[in-house]
Amino acid sequence: DFTLADLLAPEGYQAGGLAIGAHLSRSLRIAGEELDGAWGGVEFLQNVALGKPPDLAGKRVAVIGGGNTAIDAARTTIRLGASEVNLVYRRTRRDMPAQDLEIQEAEEEGLKMHFLVNPTRIVGNGKVEGLELTVQELGEFDNSARRRPHPIEGSEFVLPVDVVIAAIGQSTGGACLQGCGVESERSSAIKVDRQLATTREGVFAAGDAVLGPATVIEAVAQGNAVAQAVDSYLRGGEPESKDEWLAYREMPLPWNVDDYAEATRPEMPVQAPNVRRHNWQQVELGFSEATCLQECRRCLRCDLEEGELLSMRELVEAPSRGVEEHFDKTTA
Ligand SMILES: Cc1cc2nc3c(=O)[nH]c(=O)nc-3n(C[C@H](O)[C@H](O)[C@H](O)COP(=O)(O)OP(=O)(O)OC[C@H]3O[C@@H](n4cnc5c(N)ncnc54)[C@H](O)[C@@H]3O)c2cc1C
Ligand code: SF4
Repeated sequence: DFTLADLLAPEGYQAGGLAIGAHLSRSLRIAGEELDGAWGGVEFLQNVALGKPPDLAGKRVAVIGGGNTAIDAARTTIRLGASEVNLVYRRTRRDMPAQDLEIQEAEEEGLKMHFLVNPTRIVGNGKVEGLELTVQELGEFDNSARRRPHPIEGSEFVLPVDVVIAAIGQSTGGACLQGCGVESERSSAIKVDRQLATTREGVFAAGDAVLGPATVIEAVAQGNAVAQAVDSYLRGGEPESKDEWLAYREMPLPWNVDDYAEATRPEMPVQAPNVRRHNWQQVELGFSEATCLQECRRCLRCDLEEGELLSMRELVEAPSRGVEEHFDKTTA
């Protein structure tokens, strides 16, 4: 193990980047969180991924939250054999941050959804026996452009469950940043300026650690930006304008885009819900070779190098060579 101070020692590195993610489940801050069977969403998924899944066979589960982590946790408990999986969300379905398709697929697999209910207490004696919920009504719009839920007095009821999984958000583990001069916001995100520089000279940060729980593509974009910022810092200059390094390049299109203007997105074949809820295989089965070729033809604008684009044209002109050969060639 090493610390930031070790890395930035006088004979060490002159700059560094922190991309430590946001891996800690936020607490519900309600009574009963210490009970056996009350877990955080990320920790639960981490244990499953590390080959230490809890025994959920025949158990009733409540997952709290409306984001992708909540849906991932719910679908995982279904695959672990839970007898009943409930998703509890304090707003409405259309307010859920999770992807629509994932919500729909989870419902097809048997997830029960409960909207406009908020947990107020985990009930149990040593272990979880139920989740007390309060019915909500929607009030004024908040700064997320969604109507704020308010509890309806006296509407509490208990959902009988054996396991409660809280997936209401994630924070950055600040322990490794203690005393090293890198400050955090109240949300636990690392504090950065416009160039993604932290409050410690020469240290930059990117990804979920800065944005809070976001997406892979946003983390990758910030990774690019932070690389530029570190480069400029080491050279002692101003960072290049983003417009310059992401400039749109005109590239010749080897076919007529208008021919594909009406083309619709092909439907992805998937495993049937009753089959996939019992296995860990990928839900989407992938496109056939014929569909792939059709999709290549309707490509509108590609950031592949021109040479690779031309090799795609070769593929379209001589499809018998097959998709695999094309990708062997372009990804070698
Ligand atoms: C359950 C779940 C489902 C998701 N689903 C999607 C999805 O479908 N699509 C999507 O785009 N995004 C999804 N995301 C979000 C996506 O995973 C993140 O936005 C993305 O991984 C952030 O990238 P990052 O590099 O900032 O952090 P991470 O990918 O989290 O990487 C941080 C790394 O830093 C390491 N680390 C932490 N602390 C230390 C330390 N002290 N010392 C050394 N190493 C450390 C961690 O072990 C980890 O490897 C999901 C997230 C979760 C939790
Ligand atoms: S991602 Fe790139 S290759 Fe794919 S369709 Fe879009 S522009 Fe074309």
